[in-house]
Amino acid sequence: MSLLTIRDLHITYGAGPTAVPAVRGVDLTVDPGRKLGIAGESGCGKSTLALAMLRLLPATARLSGEILLDGEDVLTMKWGRLRAVRWAGASIVFQGAMHSLNAVHRVGDQIAEPLLVHRQASAAAARKRVGALLEQVGLPPSRASAYPHELSGGQRQRVMIAMALACDPRLIVADEPTTALDVMIQAQILRLLERLVTEQDISLVMISHDLAVLADTCDRLAVMYAGRIVEEGPARDVYDAARHPYGRALSAAFPRIGDPASRLAPRGLPGDPPDPAALPPGCTFHPRCPSALETCRSEDPPLVQAAPGHRAACVLTPGSPA
Ligand code: SF4
Ligand code: MG
Repeated sequence: MSLLTIRDLHITYGAGPTAVPAVRGVDLTVDPGRKLGIAGESGCGKSTLALAMLRLLPATARLSGEILLDGEDVLTMKWGRLRAVRWAGASIVFQGAMHSLNAVHRVGDQIAEPLLVHRQASAAAARKRVGALLEQVGLPPSRASAYPHELSGGQRQRVMIAMALACDPRLIVADEPTTALDVMIQAQILRLLERLVTEQDISLVMISHDLAVLADTCDRLAVMYAGRIVEEGPARDVYDAARHPYGRALSAAFPRIGDPASRLAPRGLPGDPPDPAALPPGCTFHPRCPSALETCRSEDPPLVQAAPGHRAACVLTPGSPA
């Protein structure tokens, strides 16, 4: 059975005629111990989707569909159960650790908190576990007494990972975990996260705008555009042989190491993603799509099985119903 199953998830902010759709009919699964990357430009709904997985969205968000974690629906579970699930079932690593950590508490106390609250650990046991967690993320246990401002950006993100690991979750959701860091540190943190989830058989959902980073880290990749998944499949296939014009544009937007031709390829995609409050009719990508046909202005193609285990939503991609 899949560890995480998302079925026909819709998320809207606000209500009535001014309601803004952020996520539109997402279906996804993550198997135990596997890593799923979710890619897309800012505003495509990927952070909303990540937060929904732990039911962390603001009260203005209206959700329908199912988010099953180990068969239990996160969206309908009782508050007490949800609190337990948030650390031991699934935990989250946010972008920008400076804002996610509490500036006035020592990082060791922050890592210990879920252990004290959710594991009813004794103070001594929590302290011991904090030391071990810091070592796992490559920090000396003595750093437990540091305040967030005394650590570098990379060290703070290591602390965030230690916190996420504290209660042995089965799933970690990482939303742009390295975006604020410089490239060298980024690579170190990604390798660390990848190694720890692999060693501990934790499933990973990683959100990023950078398809190359995701292709390097994850087993499967989903590409989001205007609140929908437009492509999903094995990571290398989506990165090297995308079936959707948007997937192709995203994968061409980042240089490939060791591929001189890619350095000459035009970067980026002209235009901006659509305003979620005023989505174009038909395929929402048609105003920017280099392959758009007349029919794309009125027809919104469903996701179809374009190849084994590889779905895409484009009129130019034939396939069987997904
Ligand atoms: Fe482009 Fe049409 Fe395919 Fe949309 S359906 S991605 S507009 S070709
Ligand atoms: Mg985001």
